[in-house]
Amino acid sequence: MDINRFKKRGYVKRPTYIEPLKNLSNVLNKNVNLFIKRDDMLESGGNKTRKLDYLIADAIEKGCDTLITCGAVQSNHCRITLSWANLEKLDCHLIIEERVKDSYKEDANGNNFLFHLMGAKSIAMVPGKSDVMKAMEEKAEELKKEGKKPYIVPGGGSNGIGALGYSSCALEIMEQLTKESLDIDTIVVPSGSSGTHAGMAVALKALNSKIKLVGINVSRPTEVQKDVVFKVAQEHIDVLGLDKNILKKDDLICIDDYVGDGYSLKTEGMKEAVELFAREESILLDPVYTGKVGDGFLDLIRKDYFKAGSNVLFLHTGGSIALYAYLNYFKD
Ligand SMILES: *Cc1c(COP(=O)(O)O)cnc(C)c1O
Repeated sequence: MDINRFKKRGYVKRPTYIEPLKNLSNVLNKNVNLFIKRDDMLESGGNKTRKLDYLIADAIEKGCDTLITCGAVQSNHCRITLSWANLEKLDCHLIIEERVKDSYKEDANGNNFLFHLMGAKSIAMVPGKSDVMKAMEEKAEELKKEGKKPYIVPGGGSNGIGALGYSSCALEIMEQLTKESLDIDTIVVPSGSSGTHAGMAVALKALNSKIKLVGINVSRPTEVQKDVVFKVAQEHIDVLGLDKNILKKDDLICIDDYVGDGYSLKTEGMKEAVELFAREESILLDPVYTGKVGDGFLDLIRKDYFKAGSNVLFLHTGGSIALYAYLNYFKD
């Protein structure tokens, strides 16, 4: 799998650390060794940086001067896109989808505060289940009339190009494991807009790796989520020019037991996972993504889902800034 031929901006300057979760391993007291990959420590904070490294390179190559993207009311993706746009001297326009009714507040804390602080050129809110791509296309038309050259970054940066961020991450992990003589059996990843899950799934297949990849859903039921991941994976396989058949839909693992009532809504398991990681490892998860994935990770360990003696790697994709917008989730 040759990905060096794809242009990137170089946002990922060094591999993010893989570290043992010693305290958590002890507290859980199961015969599994836990490790974490700290993609929360990427510059601008989280997994979207890896995808934007390739997407913004594409935008700049196409001569664009403006980014348009979309996300939920506390979108990490919107905030991270805005930060890289600022550094690249590109304009950035945000379309915010109010997935949970009445949850958009112009003066909300967390990522929303940063949309304003970091100076998004415009922020428009659309109701949940709107055709957000259409809203972005309309915005693009409007900006073109003003002489701008807009580039639409899809939600979560998840398409065939954005997924390069996570196939390259899989290569990075393999190299680290070789250097550190670490034999990882399973990697646990979030499964949302799915550039992360799809990129890793395609790369592990292309590398013929025996590592099992477990996706934990953050919003959708398993059958729907598998379709979402598979679609991005196929686009990615196309971009890489690989054989269509290297990945089958049935190869994908998506677990929907930790979503609760829906995207960004509180679950008790999420709260416990965020607290446990904070207290045992001084690592901040977030309420929308990594808290739910952390809940799944811990629950699967407790249920002996991973074989005895195995080494399991949790991919921490960032998001802790959203904690400050969901303080009420952690009271009582
Ligand atoms: C976007 C996001 C995810 C989900 O990644 P996808 O590639 O969209 O599936 C997970 N964690 C955090 C913190 C995110 O911001």
